[in-house]
Amino acid sequence: MTRATNIVILTGAGISAESGIATFRGPGGLWEGHRVEDVCTPEALARDPVLVHRFYDLRRAALATVVPNPAHDALARLDAAWPGELLIVTQNVDDLHERAGAKRLLHMHGELRSALCASCGDQSRWEGSLAPRTSCPVCGAAALRPDIVFFGEMPYRMEVIEAAIARAHIFVSIGTSGAVYPAAGFVQTARWHGAETLELNLEPSAGSHLFDESRTGPASVLVPAWVDAMLAAVA
Ligand code: NAD
Repeated sequence: MTRATNIVILTGAGISAESGIATFRGPGGLWEGHRVEDVCTPEALARDPVLVHRFYDLRRAALATVVPNPAHDALARLDAAWPGELLIVTQNVDDLHERAGAKRLLHMHGELRSALCASCGDQSRWEGSLAPRTSCPVCGAAALRPDIVFFGEMPYRMEVIEAAIARAHIFVSIGTSGAVYPAAGFVQTARWHGAETLELNLEPSAGSHLFDESRTGPASVLVPAWVDAMLAAVA
């Protein structure tokens, strides 16, 4: 470990679980009581926009009731202090990383507090509820939708992520099931480029065997311990 060590950190729903946000695959494989295909696909949005908008309205409103936990805080501390390149790639659509203070952060699956214009592609900050056919503030089309990357859609900033992974010496995956691609494949890309790979997850995931090391336990414990060790190594 040196001050020039580059780090890429992938986070998933598990890092926000201890803040009180349900993970994707809760009991029975449902997300907050809904089948994924009913709320997280372009087909669902076209078929039942009221249901889909309401689902994300509730998730957006719930953000006001949660706060970052020690795992988000620790990553923000690492981000502020790490002398080498660092990128936190989150699959989460909550805003807990940025509220903890993380700056070198990218939301590959979109954000609850953003609205996307299906007509012109503009992304605007969005705080309240979002009714179907709300007008875009830029082009005026009645086409605003939740800025969420649905299954079957291309995640954001893939070229930036791939480039960062290619330069990474350490790749860490935190609180993700390893079931959603392309994020689930990042560990293999990182290994191919020669990075050390570490998984921090509550339990072994579908991709645990792909990592050099896999530690199991709650993110609020594992992440601060890992961050402390990283910062001690370059102090
Ligand atoms: P997932 O729900 O499929 O997997 C979560 C993983 O976190 C599981 O492996 C679980 O064992 C682990 N986990 C649960 N509690 C943990 C804890 N306290 N500490 C450490 N690990 C813990 O989530 P995913 O892999 O991120 O994929 C789900 C998709 O759902 C993402 O693309 C995301 O966009 C969306 N999603 C986001 C949020 C959010 O923004 N907070 C919440 C639910 C779903």
